[in-house]
Amino acid sequence: MVVVGANAAGMSAASQAKRMRGDKLEVIALERGSHCSYSACGIPYWVAGDVADGEGGLVARSPEDHRAKGIDLRMLTSVEAIDVHAGKVTVRDLDSGRRYQEGFDHLVLATGAVPVRPLVPGGDAAGVFGVQTLDDGVALLVGLERLRPRRAVVIGNGYIGVEMADALARRRMAVTVVDRAPQPMSTLDPDMGELVHRAMEKVGIDVRTDATVTGFEIDGEGRVRSVVTSDGAVPADVVVLGLGVRPNTALANQAGLPLGDHGGLRTDTQMRVLGHDRLWAGGDCVEVLNLVSDQYEHIPLGTHANKHGRVIGHNIAGSYATFPGVVGTAVSKVCDLEIARTGLSERDATHAGLGYVTVSVQSGTRAAYFPGTQRLTVKMTAEGHTGRLLGVQIVGNEGSAKRIDTAATALWNHMTVEEMTTLDLAYAPPFSPVWDPILVAARQASAAVRAADR
Ligand SMILES: Cc1cc2nc3c(=O)[nH]c(=O)nc-3n(C[C@H](O)[C@H](O)[C@H](O)COP(=O)(O)OP(=O)(O)OC[C@H]3O[C@@H](n4cnc5c(N)ncnc54)[C@H](O)[C@@H]3O)c2cc1C
Repeated sequence: MVVVGANAAGMSAASQAKRMRGDKLEVIALERGSHCSYSACGIPYWVAGDVADGEGGLVARSPEDHRAKGIDLRMLTSVEAIDVHAGKVTVRDLDSGRRYQEGFDHLVLATGAVPVRPLVPGGDAAGVFGVQTLDDGVALLVGLERLRPRRAVVIGNGYIGVEMADALARRRMAVTVVDRAPQPMSTLDPDMGELVHRAMEKVGIDVRTDATVTGFEIDGEGRVRSVVTSDGAVPADVVVLGLGVRPNTALANQAGLPLGDHGGLRTDTQMRVLGHDRLWAGGDCVEVLNLVSDQYEHIPLGTHANKHGRVIGHNIAGSYATFPGVVGTAVSKVCDLEIARTGLSERDATHAGLGYVTVSVQSGTRAAYFPGTQRLTVKMTAEGHTGRLLGVQIVGNEGSAKRIDTAATALWNHMTVEEMTTLDLAYAPPFSPVWDPILVAARQASAAVRAADR
C-alpha cells in the first residue's frame, strides 16, 4: 500500500490498514512536506494564543510515532508521476534530489488542496502570508513576532478568513477583512451572514464586503504596504490570505484519472477512484456527494478527510466500509459568536431546483430564567409540500453551534420538519429551554409548510 500525502486522509488510511493487517501489509507513506498528521484546523486558534503547546500541540502523531507502528513514512519525499498500468509511482527525495520508482498493489491519493491566491501581482510580497499548512502557521507567527504589525488585512471572509480576523484582532491588531461577497460566510444565507458581520464590527473588525482585491502596494524593500481594492486602498503591515482552496489533483490529472466539475477526484462510496480497482482517494482532493441536493461538491473539511481515510484503510485491509456522502455540516466561531450550518442554504435549494419554505426563530441556549443563557438565531429550510428538512443555520453565543448536530442527524435520516417536532431532545434548565431551539424552529417550519399548502 503506497500513500501519497501524510496528513488527515492519508495517515488515517495508512494507520487503519496497518492496524487491521499488521505485518501482512507493507505500508509506505510519502510526504513532500516536513510535517505529518497535524491539525490545520487549529492554526487560527494557535495564532490567537489559545494553543498552549504551540506548533507541537497541533501535531497528533510524529513521523517517529507512525514508524513505530510499522509504517514506512518518508518525509520530504514528493511523488512526481503515477504509472497506473505499471503500478508504479515516480518519487523524488527532496533532500538528496534522488529520483526512484516505487511499486504498489494499492495506491492512496491523499494530496489535499491548494490555496486559492488572488490573481493580481504582488501576492508573494514580504508580509503576505497563507494559512494552509503548519509551515504557513509557523511563518505567520514568526512574522508577527518580528514585525509587531499594527494593521492586518485578511483577504477572504469564509470561515478561515473570519477565524483568522478574530485571531489577529485578539492579538490587538487593527483588522480589515476584504471580500467581494455581500456578507461574511457565504455558505450561510445573507441574513445569517449579516449577524456575523455585525458581531465582527462590534469587536472592531472592519468588514469590507462587495470589495474586489485589484492589487497590492509594495514598498522599495518588497514589503506589502496596502491592499488595493475596488473600495479603495487599505493600509496593511501584514496580509493573510484566506480565499479558500481547490483540490490538489495535478498529479491525478496527469495520470488521466477521473475528475469532477469542481476539479476533485471522483470515487465510488468505498473511496475507490472510479474505474480503477487499485486506486483510492480521499480528503480535500476528492469531490463528495451532497446527499440533500444529490449533487457532487468540493467540501474540504478535516472531518470528511479522516472518515475517508478510515474507509480506505478498511477496504484495502479486506474489510468493507463506505462513505455515502455528506449533508454539508460545518461549524465555526468568530469573536464570541458561534456559527453552524448543515444542509442547503436558500441559494443551494434554488440551485437544486427545490421549492422551499424558510423560518427564523430567536431563542436561548438555556431556560430564560437560568443564569448565563445566551441568544441564538436558528434558520430552518424545508421542502414545500413534503416538509422534508433541507437545511439549518445557527448563529449565536456559547452553547449554540453544536445544536446543529441534531439537525444534521435529522437530515441524514431524511426527516420531515413535522417529524422533528417530536424528537426526544434532552431538557433541563442549565442546558436548554423546555422547547429546544431546534424544536421551536421545526414547529414553525412545519406550520409554514402547512400554510404554504393551503
Ligand atoms: C486554517 C484552516 C482551518 C481549518 N479548520 C477546519 C475545521 O475547523 N474543521 C474542519 O473539518 N476542517 C478544517 N480545515 C480543513 C482541514 O484542515 C482539511 O480538510 C484537512 O487537512 C484535509 O486533509 P487531507 O489529508 O485531505 O489534506 P492535507 O491536510 O492538505 O494533506 C495533504 C498532504 O499531501 C501532501 N502532498 C500533496 N501532494 C503531494 C505529492 N505529490 N507528494 C507527496 N506529498 C504530497 C501535502 O504536503 C500535504 O501534507 C481547516 C483548514 C485550514 C487550512
